[in-house]
Amino acid sequence: MDKQQSTQDVLGAVAAFPAMKPGHRLVPARIGRKGRMQIVYVECPAWCTEDHVANFQYDVEDITHYGDIDGVAVPTMLNPDEAHFTWSTRVASDPAAAEPSLRAAHVLVDDGSPIEARLTPEMADDLANELIAFAAQIRAAARTARLANHVGDSDPSMDEALRRVRGGAA
Ligand SMILES: [Zn+2]
Repeated sequence: MDKQQSTQDVLGAVAAFPAMKPGHRLVPARIGRKGRMQIVYVECPAWCTEDHVANFQYDVEDITHYGDIDGVAVPTMLNPDEAHFTWSTRVASDPAAAEPSLRAAHVLVDDGSPIEARLTPEMADDLANELIAFAAQIRAAARTARLANHVGDSDPSMDEALRRVRGGAA
């Protein structure tokens, strides 16, 4: 048996490494309980920005992939130090979920309550369209309020200016 033949025999005895899913890479993840944790490597989608080492899990099936968080904070003039409420959104997938739609990449919308809304990409598109229309309504409401607050502002000042001019001329 020559040297090349024996190498092939050894390689043949090793299980082939499974092909990586498209759009994924291997990342380290810390798994286990205090004092007996280990690093394993898991397939992680390219959009995931979660640090699976820092945010350790007890079991591999607890790993969830998350994208970056975007959000909007709604202020109130009654308490300028705090957002009255917030909405945030990010991409997520839970590879060990029983529900296939949760294993797939989907969109989370979170208002800070314990239950997050989970949307398919199509549902997220519909919500985005509604929010675009809602943004226009917020702008229209602001315009109405601004106009209401300034009703009568311009006329009295104009009258006053005219009075001054006339008074000076008289
Ligand atoms: Zn990940």
